[in-house]
Amino acid sequence: MQGKIGVTTENIFPVIKKFLYSDHEIFLRELVSNAVDATQKLKTLSSFGEFKGELGDLSVSVTIDKEAGTLTVSDHGIGMTADDIEKYINQIAFSGAEEFLEKYKDTANSIIGHFGLGFYSAFMVAKKVEINSLSYKDGATSVKWVCDGSPEYTMTDGTRTTRGTDIILYIDDDDKQFLEQGTIDGLLRKYCRFLPVPVISGFEQEWKDGAMVDTDRPKVINATEPQWMKKPSELSDEDYLAFYHELYPGQDDPMFWIHLNVDYPFTLTGILFFPKIHNNFDVQKNRIQLYCNQVYVTDSVEGVVPEFMMLLQGVIDSPDIPLNVSRSYLQADTAVKKISSYITKKVAARLEEIFKADRADYEKKWDDIKVFIEYGMLTDEKFCEAAMKFVLVKDTEGKYFTLEEYKALVEPEQTDRDGNIVFLYSTDPVAQYTYINAATDRGYNVLLMDGQLDNHFIGLLEQKLEKTQFVRVDSDIVDNLIRKTDSKVADLTPLQRDELTTLFRSQIPAIDKTNFLVTFEALAANAQPIVITQNEFMRRMKDMAAMQPGMGFYGELPDSYNLVVNTEHPLIVRIKDDAAKALDATVQPLASEIESKNAEAEKIRKDAPEGKTSAEDDQRIKDIEAEVTRLRGEQEKAIADYAATQPLAGQLIDLALLGNGLLKGEPLARFISRSISLL
Ligand code: ADP
Repeated sequence: MQGKIGVTTENIFPVIKKFLYSDHEIFLRELVSNAVDATQKLKTLSSFGEFKGELGDLSVSVTIDKEAGTLTVSDHGIGMTADDIEKYINQIAFSGAEEFLEKYKDTANSIIGHFGLGFYSAFMVAKKVEINSLSYKDGATSVKWVCDGSPEYTMTDGTRTTRGTDIILYIDDDDKQFLEQGTIDGLLRKYCRFLPVPVISGFEQEWKDGAMVDTDRPKVINATEPQWMKKPSELSDEDYLAFYHELYPGQDDPMFWIHLNVDYPFTLTGILFFPKIHNNFDVQKNRIQLYCNQVYVTDSVEGVVPEFMMLLQGVIDSPDIPLNVSRSYLQADTAVKKISSYITKKVAARLEEIFKADRADYEKKWDDIKVFIEYGMLTDEKFCEAAMKFVLVKDTEGKYFTLEEYKALVEPEQTDRDGNIVFLYSTDPVAQYTYINAATDRGYNVLLMDGQLDNHFIGLLEQKLEKTQFVRVDSDIVDNLIRKTDSKVADLTPLQRDELTTLFRSQIPAIDKTNFLVTFEALAANAQPIVITQNEFMRRMKDMAAMQPGMGFYGELPDSYNLVVNTEHPLIVRIKDDAAKALDATVQPLASEIESKNAEAEKIRKDAPEGKTSAEDDQRIKDIEAEVTRLRGEQEKAIADYAATQPLAGQLIDLALLGNGLLKGEPLARFISRSISLL
């Protein structure tokens, strides 16, 4: 018998070859899956009493005949009658195949199977395909179907004498690698490792006379009952660990795992592992694997599991995930959304359980799971809600707290005058050592926030925790970190302020992309004479900019620091007094002159009729302003000249810069030689 395969397109095979080319290895998955399905169907029929014969050997085999150039997939399943072949193979049950493939060519892998093209994927690697089958049905006769890749096929009597099907592929010249046992082993291990029916290919090997040789024992590829299909109560920790290492050889033990098992409203099983993440590469390489009824489908699980769980490893098996559609469809699918939120819930519940059951162990693992939990909280509202109970923070002494515990701990000492609880934190305990010391001496606690995500995480916590504010420990002098009362103002006359501002500013070394603002505070006499702080807001903006594209503006801004001069410190008092002695005689008259000039200009403006100055007035004001600028310059020069002869101010500034790691290069060299000459 001859016929034409029932697709609307003239010739679907070139289309299959062309578009599915990149993924052509999946033909083997399709054919072995079909064989396994046929076997499972027979088992089902048998269990319902609809098939009464002997089940016998049910294994599926994949055999290579290099000489004949064929690859054969054989099963002992239900087989097909001529009618079955007509119905299931000849009538490709959809129209417009070509347009369809054209449209979805990017997701070619996914559409295979979904539209019953599974079997035809054989033509990606074969120039001719034969089916030789004998149905389980009483009185069935064997049937043979042959097709050479054109839409024409022939159907004749077959030669199969036992129940089941052989699919024989005459492998294309371009695809000879599929006639190598090594290639086939690799593919079977990838796609068929956990199929529920034994899959046999090639032979077990053994050492003989210094080489690996085939034995006569057929090699079984798969574990027919993978761990995730078993009940958690049947499995020991060793079983889970062994399974993990089978999936991801060469990895450290995972920290813990979650066994998933749902059957309503969707079916899903699986085991997720929390790995020890050492580097990005591990994350890229060892990903969650998605199975559909134990057939490996993909490890691109974006859209199926919540994004933050991409850091986990393990297996998810669900027949309910529409695997054969494009990714955007997958993300919009309601079943997938349910699955994703189920997984989120399960993971959160498991974490809470571990946290409650063994706090010490949980703390030990915290540094490793922190990135995962923070990422989850930042990207998933539901998870965040759940995790507020078991997320930990760590202080600079290495102690761990839940958010609630921490709040209770710091509330008495670290509440400011507006009733906000201030969480102090450090991003670098070495560089910020002196600030941490100052804060802990004050009875404050300082959190360690040095993780990759902590910047964002701080922002999140400020949103979630009421009346709580994070302040980096070096963002202000210790008295001002948590404002409890109005701080004491520095007691300086305007002239002194002017003199000292200019004096100190003239001694700050030029540092690339860095600005300093000189301010005065009346701190304790035994506090540091000069403290350098960095405004919390500006610093956060810059940190964010560094991480996010499109915020370049903030990134371009120079770093601005406050140079806080402690007017109570004896050395500063000395600088102030010395400056007054040396400078007042010169600076005072200049200051008075500037003042009277300014008053003069002001008067012209005020006296102008109806507030409108004449052209003549404007000229006079301009002259006065030029004079003021000149006087100011003179004043500044006098102060700077004086400052240059007084090493103390520069020395104190450099010491403060040094303490912040800001003194480098030439200014550092100058500091060193100045220090030596001072000694
Ligand atoms: P799908 O498996 O997605 O239905 P296929 O093109 O792979 O699409 O197969 C079409 C049909 O052909 C199957 O549904 C099944 O009825 C039949 N079939 C394919 N391979 C076998 C086999 N090895 N044994 C019995 N029936 C088979």
